[in-house]
Amino acid sequence: MRICCERMRAQLERGCPRHDDPYLCPDRLVVHSAEFGVWGLVVRGEGRMAVPIAFCPWCGTRLAGLGEAVRSSVGKDPA
Ligand SMILES: [Zn+2]
Ligand SMILES: [Zn+2]
Repeated sequence: MRICCERMRAQLERGCPRHDDPYLCPDRLVVHSAEFGVWGLVVRGEGRMAVPIAFCPWCGTRLAGLGEAVRSSVGKDPA
């Protein structure tokens, strides 16, 4: 998987000693679902919930996964 920036890399690679579950960790802002291949913004207080995002909240790079899914649902580029 391509990591767009260091902030995103830190979110992925930083393990928290106090929270095994990233949804419970206040330091964790985004999660990556390997199952669905999308990134999500963690929503607090709603159980294990995340809002899918298509762009990196820090650097604005289009993220693989949801972005790809959206594009393929729209159709292939005529080229
Ligand atoms: Zn980024
Ligand atoms: Zn934590």
